[in-house]
Amino acid sequence: MIKKRFIAGATCKQCQKQDVIRWCKDSDSDHEWTECVSCGHREDRPNEVMAAEHPETKEDNDMVQIVTFKR
Ligand SMILES: [Zn+2]
Repeated sequence: MIKKRFIAGATCKQCQKQDVIRWCKDSDSDHEWTECVSCGHREDRPNEVMAAEHPETKEDNDMVQIVTFKR
């Protein structure tokens, strides 16, 4: 199963648009990558984007979000 979510504030290196980058993870293979929904640009091992990631993300409707509360 592939999980996808938008990364707020991320800019596509190829088309230079903002808020078009989705972070994707295949839970079967543990493969992570990012893709641009505007131009289709894909990038493996998105360390740079992951480092820039912050909590303000837009969830897809079919996405399951697991929230853990710390006590
Ligand atoms: Zn793009």
